[in-house]
Amino acid sequence: MQHLLNLKPEELAAWLAERGLPGYRAAQIRRWPIQSPGIDFDGMSDLPKALRIQLAESFQLWTMSQVARQQSDDGTEKLLLEVAGGDRIECVLLRDQRGHRTVCLSTQVGCAMGCVFCASGLDGVRRNLTAGEILEQALRLKSLLAGGERLSHVVVMGMGEPLANLPALLAALETVTAGEGLAISARRVTISTVGLPKGIRQLADSGVQYHLAVSLHAPDDALRSQIVPANRNVGIAAILAATDDYFARTGRRVTFEYVLLAGVNDRQEHALRLAALLKGRPSLINLIPYNPVAGLPFQTPDPGRVRQFQETLEAGGLAVKTRYRKGNRIDAACGQLRRSRA
Ligand code: SAH
Repeated sequence: MQHLLNLKPEELAAWLAERGLPGYRAAQIRRWPIQSPGIDFDGMSDLPKALRIQLAESFQLWTMSQVARQQSDDGTEKLLLEVAGGDRIECVLLRDQRGHRTVCLSTQVGCAMGCVFCASGLDGVRRNLTAGEILEQALRLKSLLAGGERLSHVVVMGMGEPLANLPALLAALETVTAGEGLAISARRVTISTVGLPKGIRQLADSGVQYHLAVSLHAPDDALRSQIVPANRNVGIAAILAATDDYFARTGRRVTFEYVLLAGVNDRQEHALRLAALLKGRPSLINLIPYNPVAGLPFQTPDPGRVRQFQETLEAGGLAVKTRYRKGNRIDAACGQLRRSRA
């Protein structure tokens, strides 16, 4: 059965029209899962009983089951969810001092990109998530918020490569940003990609002002192809051409993420070359000290090294932030909970 949230509002209206029912019911129906996560069709009290039965016969509303919920004392919460077919995905709720409430969503079961330091891709990709499954993660996480809290940001930085599943992602984000959906401004939605130039251009074509983050992780192709194998068929030059284009068309400054792996890409020469590569581009560098993954051979640089790397970039004229790490103790990063429960 089809996930109700896989249908766009106009598709649901068409389904109603086929049954001789008025189109305004579509908005009524869709309001329920957005405002009352966990609701079933029978609980949609403003709909005629017959319609509730028809809906229940045609659609499923919540298609995932919660396998685990973990909480960290910094306010981070993580859900391990089982999707139809039995595979598992993860999603995270992050809370910060400024009052930001951010959900981190997955777009695929596993990942095909094969970044050597990342837990999500260790077993390859199983399948794309549907729009409904992507949205369901956001709604489930939203339901964990307390009375005074409001969901403010979405980051698409969970499992999977978002631009390899762009149609489903864009459909889910339409509801995230719609006034009658979660009403989160597109500027507060960040899509993080390994750097697929075609996908970056398609994203710009969509005409929506999402924030784009690109996982660069190295200042040259030789090193990048070692740690981000997807780079072998792409190359940094093509990625930067696409991000330049993204900025030109959307006016949105692109973020470049850079995972710091001790002894691999964290030396002074790497910082200098990275500064030269990005100089003059309106961008932000996001340094992410490696988050250890069981069984992988990498190490986190010590804080002094991270600081020096940041200072070198700043001296080169770049805007830099080091990502504050959250939820480490609950395996809240990068496909780790799924592995620890496998
Ligand atoms: N496929 C997307 C989303 C990946 S997750 C992408 O490649 O951008 C978001 C970020 O976390 C990416 O920059 C990813 O490279 C990084 N990441 C993955 N594993 C990590 C680890 N063990 N430690 C720190 N960052 C990691």
